[in-house]
Amino acid sequence: MKYLGAHVSAAGGPDQAVQRAVEIGANAFALFTKNQRQWRAKPLTEEAIEAFGAACREHGFAPHQILPHDSYLINLGHPDAAGLEKSRDAFLDEMQRCEQLGLTLLNFHPGSHLKKISEAECLTRIAESINLALDETRGVTAVIENTAGQGTNLGWRFEHLAEIIAQVDDKSRGGVCIDTCHAFAAGYDLRTPEACTATLDAFGDVVGFEYLRGMHLNDAKSEFASRVDRHHSLGQGNIGLDAFATLMRDPRLDGIPMILETIEPSLWAEEIAWLRAQQG
Ligand SMILES: [Zn+2]
Ligand SMILES: [Zn+2]
Repeated sequence: MKYLGAHVSAAGGPDQAVQRAVEIGANAFALFTKNQRQWRAKPLTEEAIEAFGAACREHGFAPHQILPHDSYLINLGHPDAAGLEKSRDAFLDEMQRCEQLGLTLLNFHPGSHLKKISEAECLTRIAESINLALDETRGVTAVIENTAGQGTNLGWRFEHLAEIIAQVDDKSRGGVCIDTCHAFAAGYDLRTPEACTATLDAFGDVVGFEYLRGMHLNDAKSEFASRVDRHHSLGQGNIGLDAFATLMRDPRLDGIPMILETIEPSLWAEEIAWLRAQQG
């Protein structure tokens, strides 16, 4: 069973994200639980929490079908003490918001070394940041997303993800999300069914499917191995439809939220229907 959806807007409250997911025929979705471009947000109200829970129950969304994403400002591997503390505080707030909403996953980009510390040191900081947040929360898995490797972002090699997981104390709450555009831009080919399967095999060997908690399904405007993060609608970019058809038939990807972050929301319903039709 594949859970398919998109990263929908939560404008008007998290329960509105559920409605928007329903409108596009999704059985999974992603959302921001606060404005993703701001450090601070008002706490969630009781009303907002209850409305979200009621909407999820009404439309049959269980926590493992929902993949909230944290703010883009957060850098859990920040080289400076002040920047690191600010990021860790904001990340804990994001984890606690998920906890309040009854959500069990929080998806985030691992972090950037900003050319001030080594890759290894940055990966250790990221793992420490995760450990601190896990110590203060219950029931929410920290889901590390692979990146395109733009700038000084880490997490573009599967080895980076494995290294972070290796340093997470509670591995039952450490997980990974694979973004197809990011993987392709980072140099993992997906353009043919064979390449797609080989990339997944490599993920299995290096990280392990037991850690896979979600996927982002995006075609790429960016070139292969360009380390540039530019999403495109399915079939319109450099990855192509064969990859997405192959993913839909791979049982290793069952039971996790698979989320479109493609650039044209008016196509999401069509993209979801097409993906669903590719399942074997
Ligand atoms: Zn993504
Ligand atoms: Zn991206």
